[in-house]
Amino acid sequence: MSEFSNSTRMGVRCAVEIIHSSQRSVVLTGAGVSTPSGIPDFRSTNTGIWEKYDPFEVASLSAFRYNPTRFYEWMRTLATGIQEASPNPAHYGLAKLEEVGYIQTVITQNIDRLHQRAGSKNVLEVHGSMGTLSCTRCYRTVSSQGYLEAYLLHGEIPYCPDCHNVLKPDLVLMGEQLPAKTWLKAQEACKKCDLMIVAGSSLEVLPVAGLPMRALENGAHLILINHSTTYLDVRADVVLHEDVAEIIPSIVSELLKA
Ligand SMILES: [Zn+2]
Repeated sequence: MSEFSNSTRMGVRCAVEIIHSSQRSVVLTGAGVSTPSGIPDFRSTNTGIWEKYDPFEVASLSAFRYNPTRFYEWMRTLATGIQEASPNPAHYGLAKLEEVGYIQTVITQNIDRLHQRAGSKNVLEVHGSMGTLSCTRCYRTVSSQGYLEAYLLHGEIPYCPDCHNVLKPDLVLMGEQLPAKTWLKAQEACKKCDLMIVAGSSLEVLPVAGLPMRALENGAHLILINHSTTYLDVRADVVLHEDVAEIIPSIVSELLKA
């Protein structure tokens, strides 16, 4: 911890105490947890991925239905980035905290499956995932393994093995509903938790940004770890405007000493 400023060290100690004394902790992660792995925030306007495209013209459900080839061309950058990425110390730290019982649920806005690859088990992907593809006609769901590689390598657009309709990656597109069962579980977890840790999210994308409010309304503690400020900084017990890939491992090592 010696590399941090005094106030950051105090914040880390305070976070460790709160986590240590909590019974049901929920973590909410956003794009900031995956940027140290080299994955751009695909909803953010200044990361380059939108430069060539208007998101509402390519990355919405109606645009996918209208022109799936264009949709897949847009998705190539995102899918390649995810395929080449590895979990970073923030992902591994959160997986460790779940393994030793300090965290019960990880709710993530990320679609890259890096939490699972780092070892997290109870992950709620509220913005969907690149791990599966679904048929928008017959609702068949398949693992994306093989299909996405075939697209990236040979440009083969994936088709449903049952009805031969184009398959859609299960990430939540612009204007699309969140996956209902996952969203209900996430809301439930936030209502029941006594600690919510927000990591790498600026809490700007609704409705997920409202989840910490559900936790606060029920008396939970709140720890925020994010580069920039959020609308809930004033309500949090601890605010750390730091790099998640540095802060989370230091919290983990302090907790394991405790
Ligand atoms: Zn089908």
